[in-house]
Amino acid sequence: MDAQPSLLDELLRHGLLFDTGVDGLYGRAGIFEEVISGIETMVVRIGHVDRPEVIRFPPGMNRAHFEASGYLKSFPHLAGTVHCFCGDEAAHGSLLADLEKGRDWTGGQKASDIVITPAACYPLYPIVAKRGPLAAGGGLFDLSSYCFRHEPSTDPTRMQLFRMREYVRVGSPEQVVDFRSEWMERGKTLIDKLRLPYVVDVANDPFFGRGGKIIANSQRELGLKFELLIPVSSQANPTACLSFNYHQDHFGKLWGITQADGDVAHTGCVGFGLERLAIALFRHHGFDTTQWPAGVRAELGLT
Ligand code: ATP
Ligand code: ZN
Repeated sequence: MDAQPSLLDELLRHGLLFDTGVDGLYGRAGIFEEVISGIETMVVRIGHVDRPEVIRFPPGMNRAHFEASGYLKSFPHLAGTVHCFCGDEAAHGSLLADLEKGRDWTGGQKASDIVITPAACYPLYPIVAKRGPLAAGGGLFDLSSYCFRHEPSTDPTRMQLFRMREYVRVGSPEQVVDFRSEWMERGKTLIDKLRLPYVVDVANDPFFGRGGKIIANSQRELGLKFELLIPVSSQANPTACLSFNYHQDHFGKLWGITQADGDVAHTGCVGFGLERLAIALFRHHGFDTTQWPAGVRAELGLT
């Protein structure tokens, strides 16, 4: 039997996460954040040798860029939008009356120019496209963002708001494929250092609907997505903690990103699910970090 609810209970009981009343939306304790910082420092230590350009995004992105990205075609069920009150005083009166009477007050809310970022790399592509053709070496970016996915769950590794750390490579097919192979090895080394069990396997994104199944199958057949999976909530269904994606020329074509020679750029990304990695550590090494193996504490810089 899967132990998903009890893992959440344990994380709450040990004061590592705080319940907000919404599945997948939690406060994080100081020590939980220290673990996340430790993981990020390890990731940077491995990745900084390639001198990536660092960009930090807020959890929201330009709605027009989101619409153009095709996300709503593939993952309408996961998207989150920011709606706001834009009415006059009369509209404010009806909003308050609806609230008071316990009626739905959200009907008058209007979509703003911002949607919640679904993956850390989504806001990057239009920025790169706007700069014009890439230099001969292509581009390499170190990104981080809070991300939203509407997938409420009592499995603490499936949050609605979580942090994704990504390295993104933009360039020729060879540059992107090499980047992904390199990071698959680096990812394994990182998880070995954290003394966590894992497997790496081919994967697919959760494309929506019947048509989505066909796209997901082709993504698997072409080996476009791999995941590093760690047993966390369940032994039988390990959790994807790192993902290694090759988008081919999908985003290059979509945004008009070109290589130095004018060819359409290819892109790929490696994504680190920071909360998933932290929870995997608590699950395997215990809820008290002072009892974690000395080597793991040292890697994470826990004092
Ligand atoms: P792409 O850019 O192709 O959309 P991506 O790498 O940006 O893909 P995913 O592979 O879907 O995005 O997610 C990256 C990582 O984020 C996953 O490996 C996982 O660790 C983490 N993640 C995904 N969904 C959740 C969630 N609901 N809660 C916590 N972490 C998640
Ligand atoms: Zn990505």
